[in-house]
Amino acid sequence: MLEVRGLHKSFGPLHVLKGVDLVVRPGEVSFLIGPSGGGKSTLIRCVNFLETPSAGEITFDGRSLCREEGNIFHIAPERTLRAARSEMPMVFQHFNLFSHRTVLENVIEGPVMVKRQRRDEAIAIAEKLLAEVGLADKHDRYPDELSGGQKQRVAIARALAMQPKLILFDEPTSALDPELVSGILDTIRGLAERGMTLIVVSHEMGFARRLADQVHFISGGTIVESGPPERIFDAPDNPRLASFIRSIL
Ligand code: ADP
Ligand code: MG
Repeated sequence: MLEVRGLHKSFGPLHVLKGVDLVVRPGEVSFLIGPSGGGKSTLIRCVNFLETPSAGEITFDGRSLCREEGNIFHIAPERTLRAARSEMPMVFQHFNLFSHRTVLENVIEGPVMVKRQRRDEAIAIAEKLLAEVGLADKHDRYPDELSGGQKQRVAIARALAMQPKLILFDEPTSALDPELVSGILDTIRGLAERGMTLIVVSHEMGFARRLADQVHFISGGTIVESGPPERIFDAPDNPRLASFIRSIL
């Protein structure tokens, strides 16, 4: 589904991603863990071109988004990037809903504006998705009238409305009150059980241990160690990973 090779990203003089390799197979759940500032958000933002990488290769669902040829860094045309981005929506820590639009309008925005779906069709799908995430009675509410957990459910319904091939989660529960966390984790688990391909940046280590197929430890702009959760959490090789795990348990 996704293949990243030798990915670099600099912000001016700040070299943030220093050659990241990452492979995600269809239906796989990949967790990215690691210390703050290590490059987790930058990596998933580069994957869907919310940020433009500086060098390296990204192939998504068989389509090259960027690649190196000789010394030249090629980036796919904007319409290719836009299509790819619509098939791998991101769910953010702070929800990023349109505050002046209702719940229903938030969910149909992408399908109508980006995918050119008919409005009545988009509404029918949105109503079904909102019911699935337990918000059947909130269509006409505005984000400010919802709890954090409900806002995050709207964001997840909005991502699903794009008929995604991959969903990117960037710390989806970090801004939630503690009692709202498990509901969102359950929703994410439901997506995984239905076979959706997921990349999840999270500090919920128990959740990662139960749900992940692969865990990638990112520190200092590289993937320092990758493996199945049992190995990453119970038998880490790398000393930086071992000390990170000790610090969060
Ligand atoms: P993480 O998500 O692992 O906490 P980030 O990817 O957010 O890490 O950040 C990695 C580094 O990149 C940090 O030093 C951060 O300050 C820097 N960074 C991230 N985004 C930008 C940006 N838009 N401009 C400049 N520096 C940035
Ligand atoms: Mg981050």
